[in-house]
Amino acid sequence: MKEDLQQIQAQAENWRPEEVLRWAYTTFQGDIAMASGFGAEGMVLMDIASRVHRHFRVFTLDTEFLFPETYDLIDRVEKRYGIKVERVFSSLTPEEQDKVHGPALWTRDPDLCCNLRKVEPLRNKLRELRAWITAIRRTQTAARGFARKVEWDTKFQLVKVNPIADWTSEMVWTYIRRHNVPYNPLHNRNYSSIGCTHCTRPIQAGEDARAGRWPGFNKTECGLHVAEPQVAAPLVQIEYPVHCEEN
Ligand code: SF4
Repeated sequence: MKEDLQQIQAQAENWRPEEVLRWAYTTFQGDIAMASGFGAEGMVLMDIASRVHRHFRVFTLDTEFLFPETYDLIDRVEKRYGIKVERVFSSLTPEEQDKVHGPALWTRDPDLCCNLRKVEPLRNKLRELRAWITAIRRTQTAARGFARKVEWDTKFQLVKVNPIADWTSEMVWTYIRRHNVPYNPLHNRNYSSIGCTHCTRPIQAGEDARAGRWPGFNKTECGLHVAEPQVAAPLVQIEYPVHCEEN
């Protein structure tokens, strides 16, 4: 059975995360993987995925500047879910980056630093996939406000699946508590969004949840979830072997 992405897109907006994931894993088989930075949303999505597909794939963009707490959480995830997290590195080591672009590039040009350590490594990783899964939510940033649960990724040219796009932060934390999902202990120290050590600080009362990312810069995204201008309708022919059912 063939369907185009636009038809699935409309249906998927009414699906629960389990249903979105079930459709995605059945459709793309081994050619789909979840990207995660191991934030609260990502932890929830991994837990849901583990109930849908035992051998779900997860990869992370290891900038080599992550917090020790994040590396520890990755180890705990591997043990809890019996998976091996695929670590994706920049083609430049931190030392090579210093030599080529000067020391502490993130203090001068965080866009270039993110491009070298996150965006280009992601682009290379996505070349081996037909679809990727993310834990972005529409209310996180303005750029994410238009995310659909299933969409064509104009930037990286593959299908992008965002099963909890319509969730609130409260729903995320309710799920974590209800299912005893592990999470980064930095969240308990007012780090609401956690990235690299160089570019993340705890937030103050009343600040936006992402105010602790790239402090001092007018930057709220790494560039992973910023869509390219829409130049063509996202019409894609995909194999669609099953329909989604309620649990
Ligand atoms: S978050 Fe900061 S240190 Fe990490 S890749 Fe981006 S600019 Fe570089």
